[in-house]
Amino acid sequence: MKIDSLIGKFVRRVNRQHICFPEAAGGTRLPSPNPDRRYLLYLHVPYCVVLCPFCSFHRVKFNKDRAQQYFRALRREIELVTDAGYKFDELYVGGGTPTVLPDELLRTIGLLRELHSIRGISVETNPDDLDNGRLPELREAGVKRLSVGVQSFDDELLREMQRFEKYGSGSQIRSRLRRAMGIFDTLNVDMIFNFPHQTEASLRRDLDILVDEVGVDQVSFYPLMSVNSTRKMMLRTVGRVDDSRERKMYEMIARRMLSAGYTRSSAWCFSRRPGMLDEYIVERDEYLGLGSGSFSYLQGSMYASTFSINHYLRVVEADRTGTVRRRDMTERDQMRYYLLVQLFGGSLDQAAAEARFDGRFQRTMWPELAALRIIGAMRDSGGVLTLSESGYYLWVLLMREFLTGVNSLRDQMRHNIARETALLPVH
Ligand code: SF4
Repeated sequence: MKIDSLIGKFVRRVNRQHICFPEAAGGTRLPSPNPDRRYLLYLHVPYCVVLCPFCSFHRVKFNKDRAQQYFRALRREIELVTDAGYKFDELYVGGGTPTVLPDELLRTIGLLRELHSIRGISVETNPDDLDNGRLPELREAGVKRLSVGVQSFDDELLREMQRFEKYGSGSQIRSRLRRAMGIFDTLNVDMIFNFPHQTEASLRRDLDILVDEVGVDQVSFYPLMSVNSTRKMMLRTVGRVDDSRERKMYEMIARRMLSAGYTRSSAWCFSRRPGMLDEYIVERDEYLGLGSGSFSYLQGSMYASTFSINHYLRVVEADRTGTVRRRDMTERDQMRYYLLVQLFGGSLDQAAAEARFDGRFQRTMWPELAALRIIGAMRDSGGVLTLSESGYYLWVLLMREFLTGVNSLRDQMRHNIARETALLPVH
């Protein structure tokens, strides 16, 4: 266990140096698109009916008028980047709760499909929205993957998470999931493991429900993460996170899912059939994010949109996108990110990596690659690097630390809300 905590500390230190948006970052406009490229579009819908205490995403309490105004701005922002030449072939709508206003969501998807040839659409939702009678319309609108935030079926844990009253008991959620099965190509369930009061028996019951009772298409098991903005609230509600239990719980999950015939789509995502849509950052090298609180990764730079919804509405009204921060990554950081994301998906094609970095990948990354081989985290098979069984947990740990870094970035962006709210858009 000691090695896990050492690796965690090391990645946290690297994150502090590399995952940040400097105050005077060079420019805030999105770059011109590559005309030969089709991009993945991420849309962020920050509204939620309940604000869960462990959640560090950009989310705010639902208000119907404000959310309608927000969706209108989102559609305008789509038109702006389309006019700028961006072409999209895939859409991921996350939040928040994107299905909080189904009519607005359907209009937004409709606009995007009018403007672009979209081949895959993935939408996040919460268990109560499975009962709103709108799932067939979402399917009809082209949604292929619906991802439901369940977190756990354990009523005690759901109460601690303050989700029980709004999103229902474990048994209500199970019934809703069973009814939703078969509507979409992929019904994904998001779960969290390593809650402080989660026992192994409780996790085992969750696994039995997912595999034996619901027979869900895909499950993503995220380790519980905490950041500064959520730490106090989490202590008061779900308790103190103990990372030392994480490996054992992950191994339990992996054993159960693999023995039930699921395959890994990523280190923590298990699918019944290969080739199902999964985390967009694994599948796409570059993506564009729109909406308040979204991030983009384009041409070696990270971009962040304002977390101030007021500022976002005003800049979009003035025909600008909500992008307010940019960080240029060194080539080495881009390669590290590439390695992290590709191996999170299970494998890295060496020829593709060389093509992506003009033949400099192995030459630059040899210390990292050698270290991974020496500790037995990775195997080499015919030009493809794949994670070993022990490498998978290492990758859960690395990805957890990376996402914790991204969550800290969200904290950093939240600090700018008051100032950005006071700013007028620049024409
Ligand atoms: S966990 Fe989901 S429902 Fe809860 S606040 Fe976060 S985004 Fe909203």
